[in-house]
Amino acid sequence: MIKARIKNIAAALLISAIILPLISVRMADSNAFEDPVSHIRIGLRWGSAASASANLLNYTGSGYFFGYFDGDREFIRLGETDKTAITMMKDWNMYRYSGAWHDSAPSSGSAICVGCYHLRLEPAYDSAEAVEEAMYDAEGNKYISDSFIAYHNGAWYICAGNYTGLGSAESALSSRGLDGTAMTASSRCVTVVETETGEILFQFDCGEDYSLAVMPKAENGEKALTWFQGYKYYGGFQYTRLDGGDLTVVNFIGMSDYVKGVIPYEMNPSWPVEALKAQAVTARTYAAAHLNAHKKNGFDLCDDVCCQAYRGANSATEVSDRAVEETDGVYLTYDGDYANTFYYSSNGGATEDCQNVFYEDIPYLKGKRDPYEDYVETGYKNWSYTYTASDITNILQAKGYACASIVSVTPTYTASGNIYSIKFTDANGVNWTFSKDRAGSILYSSSYGKYTFSQHFTITDGKGGTDEIFINTSADRISAGNERTLYAINGYGVTDELTGMEGRAVITSAGVTVLSLMNSGQPIYSDKYVVTGSGWGHNVGMSQYGAKAMAELGYGYEDILDFYYTGASIG
Ligand SMILES: [Zn+2]
Repeated sequence: MIKARIKNIAAALLISAIILPLISVRMADSNAFEDPVSHIRIGLRWGSAASASANLLNYTGSGYFFGYFDGDREFIRLGETDKTAITMMKDWNMYRYSGAWHDSAPSSGSAICVGCYHLRLEPAYDSAEAVEEAMYDAEGNKYISDSFIAYHNGAWYICAGNYTGLGSAESALSSRGLDGTAMTASSRCVTVVETETGEILFQFDCGEDYSLAVMPKAENGEKALTWFQGYKYYGGFQYTRLDGGDLTVVNFIGMSDYVKGVIPYEMNPSWPVEALKAQAVTARTYAAAHLNAHKKNGFDLCDDVCCQAYRGANSATEVSDRAVEETDGVYLTYDGDYANTFYYSSNGGATEDCQNVFYEDIPYLKGKRDPYEDYVETGYKNWSYTYTASDITNILQAKGYACASIVSVTPTYTASGNIYSIKFTDANGVNWTFSKDRAGSILYSSSYGKYTFSQHFTITDGKGGTDEIFINTSADRISAGNERTLYAINGYGVTDELTGMEGRAVITSAGVTVLSLMNSGQPIYSDKYVVTGSGWGHNVGMSQYGAKAMAELGYGYEDILDFYYTGASIG
């Protein structure tokens, strides 16, 4: 038992450990926020993953419109095709072999070649109708069999042929008796061909001003779905040659369809619909708050966990789609702005102040005990690793810190019982201190196969039993020595043992931590250290497993958001 010297501990425990915080239900504002943009731009292939060519296969309809997205993200139509399998490629000498397009010839064997020199015929046209009328006869056959429509810097042209060099294009121009120019377009030019045959269908070159966009045609009022690299996507696609290089592929899509493509990859779509709805609001709000996160790459958000995982329509279910539709237009806001909707998998028992993990103090991202994860299996409960002092020395050195042998470790904890900082002291007396999210990750070691998965862990002396446990209150402090059992007594005299108390905190129903059962700020001198924790993520904002538990307990998505983003508005 505790050597008591504190006031009102029974009362403090009464109001805290036993009773779950009551949730105030906040009703959705009737004035839902407008979606901030008509189309959100999601990068699918970019940077080192940009490619020389990109295929599309229309899944629900047939054919495509060609054009570009203007400054208001509206699609401007320039031309069309009825082909369903097309390839966009940089205007380059391109070769098809082994079932794919390449930007160099095969070392042996045959290939279909599409050269990047063409015959651009006079005159220029000022509309799609005019150029089509000039290219086709009354039966719809081309006057020149290898001709195609090119849109170059605001004018339509009929181009013919493809050649791998200027010389061969020039001789073809004269031998074919055509009136025009042998040319190749700028380093921003993109050519569209039929995937199998290499027949050129369209060409687009507006320099740096605009990029080719392709909009799949839909049939019978259905929404078009298009295959791209194994995934089905709604919406249109844009192909940009940033700096004249390979194609950056961007999906232009409405906010609702985007969120439908995020939910199944950020949360298990078989989870309860209220948890999925909470995830839909956080994903939608995150996107709205981070438009232009990838501005230098030419789009809003990427399709990976760097922003939010998005893989189109493959894994959406009836329930995950419903979660999005039933929260359409609902955003989390604070002070009239989109909120920062951080979320993560599991917090292991307590959320954390944003400023204790990242840098900013955000009023609706405050740490508090999370009683809900206790109700679900998260897969990341109670992980524990033992490091020797020399393991820790090796880990720090491998991460680039030129420390001598580590002789002591001093952890500090937040009021919510999460790690705040870790100070390592080496044999020369030099301190190496890591705080906030760096404290969470500094002991993460893939070479040792030992991972700190969240901010929710403690570091104790691996010799066992010698570390003291302190109970801190604002006015009093007692030491529990080596005792490891604490009891809570409620107003009816019922005694309940508080087990696994390290890392536990006592928190009032208002979320105020009144006792922290942590060994905080005390140096540990040992040759062995035990890291014990729970959870997976950064602990700021919504716990997805907590949301699942709340939904299973009967709470609605607004309750979930209100618990994890207390003080933000839902509407
Ligand atoms: Zn990203």
